[in-house]
Amino acid sequence: MNSYRPAADSGLHEACGVFAAYSSQQQDFNAASMAYYGLYALQHRGQEACGIAVASAGAIRCHKDSGLVSEVFNSRELAQYPPGNITVGHVRYGTTGSSERSNAQPIVVRHTRGAMALSHNGNLVNASELRQQLEMNGSIFHSSTDSEIIAHVINQEALHHDIEEAVSRAMPRLHGAYALAIMTESKLIAVRDAHGFRPLCYGRTAEGIYVVASESCALDAVGATFIRDLLPGEILIFDSKGVHTRREHCNSQPHRLCVFEFIYFARPDSIIEGSSVHEARLRAGAFLAQQHPVEADVVIGVPDSGIDAAIGYARASGIPFGNGLLKNKYIGRTFISPTQSDREDKVRIKLNPVPSTIRNKRVVMVDDSIVRGTTCARIVRLLREAGAKEVHMRVSAPPFLYPCFYGTDIDSSESLIAYQHTLEEIRQIIGADSLGYLSLENAQHLAQEIADKHADGGFCTACFSGDYPTATPLETSKIRFE
Ligand code: SF4
Repeated sequence: MNSYRPAADSGLHEACGVFAAYSSQQQDFNAASMAYYGLYALQHRGQEACGIAVASAGAIRCHKDSGLVSEVFNSRELAQYPPGNITVGHVRYGTTGSSERSNAQPIVVRHTRGAMALSHNGNLVNASELRQQLEMNGSIFHSSTDSEIIAHVINQEALHHDIEEAVSRAMPRLHGAYALAIMTESKLIAVRDAHGFRPLCYGRTAEGIYVVASESCALDAVGATFIRDLLPGEILIFDSKGVHTRREHCNSQPHRLCVFEFIYFARPDSIIEGSSVHEARLRAGAFLAQQHPVEADVVIGVPDSGIDAAIGYARASGIPFGNGLLKNKYIGRTFISPTQSDREDKVRIKLNPVPSTIRNKRVVMVDDSIVRGTTCARIVRLLREAGAKEVHMRVSAPPFLYPCFYGTDIDSSESLIAYQHTLEEIRQIIGADSLGYLSLENAQHLAQEIADKHADGGFCTACFSGDYPTATPLETSKIRFE
């Protein structure tokens, strides 16, 4: 979904997570409660807003708001939902400010052909053209998301076709990244764009409830057994006739799963397209150790997604791994908002060094990315204040040089520290004794290792390489880290 935000901190953020469930026997179940647990497991993919829609007795009930899943939904709120046989849910990362609430999903659209609720992960590259066309034809928008554009395009097609055909006809009009869960009063439809940028998988519980989710960790959370990932371009329909697939858009584009799902976005216990996210991060750390060795006493990781790569670095280098940074996992949005003005305090509250691991040590600190550099500089400073003798920064991804148009919040090269500065300048800005990134070549080796495990693997590496799988507005590029 669209709506990039300004540089609030230096992290890279995924835009969304999608969850859905369908009872194959047409029997109602506690759909909202299942969606709650599924979204809870996907919270790492978006913390700004969330929502759950349930279809029950031919009507759709939806509640969504800004905040974490645990903040938006309590037991009283969940009890308002009637039992239903279909649900779709969503967690979102987006802009700060007043637009958050209106951009929350699922998007519910009611029109003459029936009601529909839609959850979307990804970003369209032709959103503004489509929106213009739709507005010229009388569509009225309630949000600034391209997810709503998708809903309108499908609705337009649904005026002349049934919902399955409408989704299929909408797909060639939608350029870019989309993993969708679409619910009508009687069907659940899961869709993955033809490049397969964003992951989407499905499974089944022992009671016969089918579950669709951005990551397999959400299937685990609701007791569903993983069946398979959706194919790029696949439309998977769950209705009273069972589960059926439409594959007319499969193989129409090269497969381009976002490599950053493995490096950063996904939870380590997820399996994406047959590969363990945890294992991929260990390998990235091992490549990094070979590429940028250093004499040091301890390897630490920046929680959460830098930890696995740090373990991989430690194993490959023989330097012991230590818990050097503790993350406060209980910071919700309500706590963060009042302290926006003091980012230094925010970092201290979110991350704390463990002095016994750090003091008088030469420390290798592994993180998965440096986007804008500000948070990284603060962490290095925290480590020095905790008594680190040396801090050697290692990054388990290549430098970000190009914006992502497919569902992350990096919207321009100008906001990227690696685009603006040389390696030595970045080292000085973050205050580290040395700095080393995973090379693009090693990232490609890593991707190849992952891809070897599934038949037609292919990855998007555009934010490192500038090699975009689709047309983009980007005309200039810059490579300075060869
Ligand atoms: S540009 Fe980067 S973050 Fe975006 S989809 Fe491609 S690999 Fe992922």
